[in-house]
Amino acid sequence: MKPVRLAILGLGTVGCGVLQLLQENATEIKRRTGREIQITHVGTRRPRPDLNLEGIQQSADLFEIVRQPDVDIVVELIGGIQPAHDLILEAIKHGKQVVTANKALLAEEGNELFEAADNNTVQIAYEAAVAGGIPIIKVMREGLAANRIDWLAGIINGTGNFILTEMRDKSRQFEDVLAEAQALGYAEADPTFDVEGIDAAHKLTLLASIAFGIPLQFDKVYTEGISKITAQDVKYAEELGFRIKHLGIARRAENGIELRVHPTLIPEEQPLANVNGVQNAVSVKASAVGQTMYYGPGAGGGPTASAVVADIIDLVRDISYTEDGSGTIPQLAFESLEDIQILKREEMTTAYYLRVNVDDNKGVLADITTILSQCGISIDAIMQQPRLKNRVPVVIMTDPIVESKMDEAIAKIQALPATHGEVTRIRLESLEN
Ligand code: NAP
Repeated sequence: MKPVRLAILGLGTVGCGVLQLLQENATEIKRRTGREIQITHVGTRRPRPDLNLEGIQQSADLFEIVRQPDVDIVVELIGGIQPAHDLILEAIKHGKQVVTANKALLAEEGNELFEAADNNTVQIAYEAAVAGGIPIIKVMREGLAANRIDWLAGIINGTGNFILTEMRDKSRQFEDVLAEAQALGYAEADPTFDVEGIDAAHKLTLLASIAFGIPLQFDKVYTEGISKITAQDVKYAEELGFRIKHLGIARRAENGIELRVHPTLIPEEQPLANVNGVQNAVSVKASAVGQTMYYGPGAGGGPTASAVVADIIDLVRDISYTEDGSGTIPQLAFESLEDIQILKREEMTTAYYLRVNVDDNKGVLADITTILSQCGISIDAIMQQPRLKNRVPVVIMTDPIVESKMDEAIAKIQALPATHGEVTRIRLESLEN
């Protein structure tokens, strides 16, 4: 059988990882596919004497590469929206199968790209776009395919998890740990995508579309970062038996679907609470199997390349076993997508951790509890912390309540003369049902 021919666009962290993995494990991979994979082209804008590119054509003209007749699969690893978007469309138009790790592109422009792929009977495979080395896309599509998904909750950004872990373990402040994460190469020079939750929102968009069969709706994900979390809140949460994690949550509610990324208190005995450092994990609650969790490295050249090459292997098997190359990796099936509304932030329901810094006056606690009760909010626990600089931090845990009610209560608490500074609100999930 003829080899399947591959073009790799971009030789950065992941591109180099893919090249090396295909070269080092060529024998094992051939045993698993029954067919040789030949890298015919690489797209790079500078010479790479550090890599073994013998017999591979190198070009800086990526559009020329994706039109070549001796390419069956295009592996896009340059990242960003453009020119990645146009390159993938061009590859699809030329009948190429596509593999990408580009979560930003798929979350924001994926509906158009998947539709184009469907129309041209090719596939876009993207295991590496979510949680790096954890094969969570395959889990959702194949392993859990028999189930109705109730919710999924994931630690899907390693940088954010590293920062929160350090804040808890070493009582450090956010800015201090962020600077270290940048020095260690975990966080980009511009860390906005990681710490403000945009990267996690991209990944959640992709997971939710598979979980619920809905179109990609990145613009409807409520997204809140970790930059406002203080060491003080991490400590108080700990005292109450909780850990603060930055979670991406997709949940089927009665009247729609909640898509949200935000710092979350979770009980310390929950497996997700014990996922530390740069590791990723996704918990899924599914109708037949119950709750399962998938854990592993969410980024890095090796883990991400592992996921990219797994997609390449799937496509090689498809190309070999079906005539038209369309087959086992299902796309977003546009004719069967569910038309379920995505809830607005104010319509979502969670429990809360609140921290209010107040004057140490008689009656202040009563004022706060009265406001909560008037807004229909039940208090689960209330704790007055030792005085800090003439103020008393009051920590309150509530039962679940719709967010609009909590907005109303917080505005009233904020307006009390005894309240100082912003009321801190962190959402809380038991992750039990
Ligand atoms: P990277 O290290 O920055 O590599 C990108 C490479 O693409 C660079 O070598 C760059 O070349 C090349 N490139 C960009 N535009 C090009 C163009 N027009 N022509 C030729 N080459 C071009 O990025 P990465 O970390 O490998 O990430 C690649 C993709 O994987 C991204 O979509 C990212 O989101 C995704 N991903 C990465 C990870 C991870 O751990 N790194 C994990 C999951 C997903 P120069 O060297 O000349 O700049």
